[in-house]
Formats: sequence, C-alpha cells, structure tokens
Amino acid sequence: MRMKTQIAKILEGDVRAAARLMRDIEDEAPHAIEDLKSLYPHTGKAYIIGVTGAPGVGKSTLVATLISSFRKEAMTIGVIAIDPTSPFTGGALLGDRIRMQRHSTDQGVFIRSVATRGWAGGLSKSTLNLIHIMDALKKDIILVETVGTGQAEVDIVSAADTSILVLIPGMGDAIQMMKAGILEGTDIFVINKIDRDSADDVKMQLEVMLGMKDGLSDGWRPPIVLTEAINNKGGAELVAEIIRHKEFLTSSGGLEKRRKERAKLELIEAVEGYLKSHIIDRIDKDCLNRLIDDLVQKKTDPYSVALEIINQSIKLIR
Ligand code: GDP
Repeated sequence: MRMKTQIAKILEGDVRAAARLMRDIEDEAPHAIEDLKSLYPHTGKAYIIGVTGAPGVGKSTLVATLISSFRKEAMTIGVIAIDPTSPFTGGALLGDRIRMQRHSTDQGVFIRSVATRGWAGGLSKSTLNLIHIMDALKKDIILVETVGTGQAEVDIVSAADTSILVLIPGMGDAIQMMKAGILEGTDIFVINKIDRDSADDVKMQLEVMLGMKDGLSDGWRPPIVLTEAINNKGGAELVAEIIRHKEFLTSSGGLEKRRKERAKLELIEAVEGYLKSHIIDRIDKDCLNRLIDDLVQKKTDPYSVALEIINQSIKLIR
C-alpha cells in the first residue's frame, strides 16, 4: 500500500519520502492527515529549539553555526525556517540560503523553508506537522527559525523546548517595545554581531529586565551569550547553554511541562482546524445569505444562529 510504504520509509529516515509528505501537506492532499496520524506515535524524541529575532540580526548565520556544532557531536539536525512574510513562491528563503552554503551535502541535516503564518496554522498548515515529520525521521535536534516580531514568535517561544532570542548591539531601547510574551518566554538571549559594536546597551537592558524577574517559578535564569556568528565565534558557548538548559528542564520536570503545553496547543489547533474545514467552510452559501438577511432584519441574533449551525453540522462530521 502506498501510504504504508511512505510511512515506513520516513521511519527509516528517508528524506525524500518526508519531503513528499511535507508537499502533500502543503497541497492539502486528503491522505496527508492520515499519514500524520500514523506518524504521531513515533514522535516525541527530538529536542526542539526555537531561534527568533528581527530580520537581519543573523539568525540564519547563527543556525548554520549551531548546525556545525551539533554535527561535531554526531547529532542529526532538522531545520525549519519559517518566513511569515513570503508567499510560497517567494524565491530563496532562509533555509534555502543555508542549504546553499556549507551543509548542502550533509545527509545528517534536513532543511525546509515554509512560508506559513506561524507556528500553528490550522489542521494541515501547522509547523508542528513539519516538526513531527522531522522527529519521525529521527532527527535529534530540530531548529525552528523565524523572522519578524509577530504572533509566530510568541507561539514559538512558548512551544519550543529551548527558546533563543537573537538581538544585536543597539537594540537596547527596542527591547522595551517587544511584544509581550517574547522576552518572558526566552530561555537564552544571544547578542550577535559584537564585532561591530559593544553589546553593553542590550546587556544592561536585559539584566535590568531579568533582575525584575527574580524568583520566577521555573527557577531558570536566562543567560546572555555574546556571538559573532559570521566568524563562528560564540557557537560553542551557545551550545553549552542549550545543553545546560536541556539538563535543567529534564531534571526539574520542565521538559514534560513544555511538551504538555505543545500537545495542548496542537489539540486546540486541531479542533479549530476541523471547525473551520468541516463547519465554517461548508456552510451552504444560499443558506448563509438567508441567515445574514435575517440578522440584518433583526429576526434573529448571531449567537443563536452560530449554535444552530454547529448543531446542524456536527452530525455530518466524521
Ligand atoms: P537573519 O535575517 O536574522 O537570518 O540574518 P542573516 O543570518 O541573514 O544575517 C544578516 C546579515 O548579517 C548577513 O549579511 C550576515 O553575513 C551578517 N552577519 C551575521 N552574523 C554577523 C556577525 O556576527 N557580525 C557581522 N558583522 N555580521 C554578521
């Protein structure tokens, strides 16, 4: 059977089978969800690292440095580069840039770029699905890189095992204006490009902020790592901090807590995904227009109609 073969191949580490399933997910092929269901029990072993920060701070360069460091430890890597600003056909994305550089021939590194709206993104477009596939391929580490400063970052920060926020000198003031949730959820701060300028302003702002966080319930004090990604400097220190954080999470029970959070996020996403694809997208247009007319004429109200639609549709869902 086609599906079984595809699943078996992915579980054996076949990158081409994995890439095909990722494409099927993007195309919303009907069997894609079935395949994901089969893969799900085989996932949960990879360690997920989120790398986020404003465009141009050096995330891709830093990710390339991290890949080199982890490869030296014989670990296998999956990289998912999320670019919420580019359309699917938007040319070379971050991951492609990395792929074209030093890791192009390394079998232990699998890189995918996606132009999704974020970490989640409905039933089939969720980045979590890509993570599951890389996990099933038995990648030890999955690096999720994202650009911008929107909701995608906040989601990644809350759902990765270790969340890294990349800053550069001169961003001290910008820190105060960052989206709520990013700073609070960051496990490791990186100040990159320290060859260009002193990191003092950013470091000071971060230390003030971290000082106010003293007594946090999870007991982890986020370190600040200084790097020159372009010159391969600071990578080893960053890996050491990642490993330290992983050990902290493992011994404190934090890892299990994060994985529960991720499962919860995914479950809610799945419910919303089915609601959208099986109810909202399937409302009969004529029927909808009649209901809208009724609303405009105040013959009914949106709350009653919404419940009625859900009750009617629920019988049709399998
Ligand atoms: P991203 O948009 O955050 O992924 O940033 P990139 O990794 O694409 O880097 C943006 C630019 O900054 C590129 O031209 C890099 O070569 C450069 N860059 C990255 N790291 C450093 C660094 O440590 N020092 C300097 N001077 N430039 C860097």
